[in-house]
Amino acid sequence: MRYDTIIIGGGMGGLVTGINLLRQGQKVAVISAGQSALHFNSGSFGLYGRHNGEDITDNPLDYIKGLPETHPYSKVGIDNILKYIPQVKPLFEEVGVTLHGDEKRNHYRLTPIGMLKPAWLSMEGYATADSPAPLSWGKALLVNIQGYLDFYPQFLSRGLEKAGLKVESRTFTLDSLQHLRKSATEMRATNIARVLDGNVLRDVARHINRFIDETDATTVIMPAVIGMFDESPIRLLQEQVKVPVRFISTIPMSVGGMRAQMKLRTWFHQHGGTYLLGDIVTRGTIDGGRVKEIYTANLADMPLAADNFVIASGSFLSHGLEANPDSVYEPIFGLDVVADPNRPQWCDPDLYKEQRFEHYGIATDSSLRVSHKGSTLDNLFAAGAVIGGCNALKEESGAGVTLMTAFKVADQILNSKKGGKQ
Ligand SMILES: Cc1cc2nc3c(=O)[nH]c(=O)nc-3n(C[C@H](O)[C@H](O)[C@H](O)COP(=O)(O)OP(=O)(O)OC[C@H]3O[C@@H](n4cnc5c(N)ncnc54)[C@H](O)[C@@H]3O)c2cc1C
Repeated sequence: MRYDTIIIGGGMGGLVTGINLLRQGQKVAVISAGQSALHFNSGSFGLYGRHNGEDITDNPLDYIKGLPETHPYSKVGIDNILKYIPQVKPLFEEVGVTLHGDEKRNHYRLTPIGMLKPAWLSMEGYATADSPAPLSWGKALLVNIQGYLDFYPQFLSRGLEKAGLKVESRTFTLDSLQHLRKSATEMRATNIARVLDGNVLRDVARHINRFIDETDATTVIMPAVIGMFDESPIRLLQEQVKVPVRFISTIPMSVGGMRAQMKLRTWFHQHGGTYLLGDIVTRGTIDGGRVKEIYTANLADMPLAADNFVIASGSFLSHGLEANPDSVYEPIFGLDVVADPNRPQWCDPDLYKEQRFEHYGIATDSSLRVSHKGSTLDNLFAAGAVIGGCNALKEESGAGVTLMTAFKVADQILNSKKGGKQ
């Protein structure tokens, strides 16, 4: 089987690269082993939210312009970033994911423990504020579902009170949720979201409106356990409740993140992309400075060939990077990595300090081509969290780096096809 481009990894990085290539008429395959970081997403995407430990509100792009040349943003280049950013919201809109926010000013997302963190774009319904505390939402009603343990109203309540709100809490249950309550492992966000849909939302709204009458609350805050397949249940509930309803991310799985993952994948598939879910790329053949073909676990000896390849296999969580007692390595090709050679350097025993391993990833040149034993590979590009050179967690830059590198890689591949300058 031969493709124009084969992408290893079907998280946000792989799928956004794939969608951009499909839109330009390429024949594209994405091979994805399993869950992506979107399954753990907070409901928000970061562009650049923190610099030297300080939250950034205004003009995050000014900070991006000053980053070292080893940072993935610098490899994308500020001119490209300015070109790609306006394309992000429309792309997600087209696949069915509404994003709120802009790059001129970060807004703040409310975390499960009631802290406010800078964000670039937030998905529909998630609780956000224009600026850090104090919040001007009046009296908050925290609504949880009886028996749901992946949401911490007490922590949240304390955080909200610090942010200037009065808070009351209530719980409810429904007959249709009883079968989930039989086992704590079933009472998870994604299972609840399958139940809280359609007409059931009327019952949810009835409970919440009764609590509002009892408490005089002016906003409702509840776990993000609605809208597994679509945003419409979120809006439906918001329409039926008397005061604004704001959703807070839960312990994973993330309902909003999974919805985004499914929407990206569905669009890709419906527009002619091949998505091999649950297969894993095990190795590839490198010859003459190019990747010739790759092999997967399911297809065994049947190689997959393409003109170009993209590695978007994520960081340690997704096994795009692995570590053994001696080294950090990229497991498919053994690509060159940015990592310290000595294990004691990898992490600081003080967990609150900067952890060096969080910068690790595969090495790329300024065109996001990767290298193998010191030689750049002509037709293998890297996109997303697998790339080394930044600490996405500390910078609140995870989705931003992933999206900008995905856009650039798609451009690089399309330009190389045209024989254009890269
Ligand atoms: C737990 C967690 C939560 C995060 N939350 C946020 C957030 O809320 N906001 C934010 O801005 N950023 C967040 N990030 C940062 C996140 O890394 C990026 O936002 C982005 O989603 C990364 O996308 P990716 O496609 O590069 O990698 P991933 O999403 O990790 O996807 C990589 C995919 O490649 C697959 N894969 C790996 N190896 C192979 C192989 N050999 N063969 C086939 N497939 C393979 C994996 O199964 C996975 O599906 C989070 C990161 C983590 C780890």
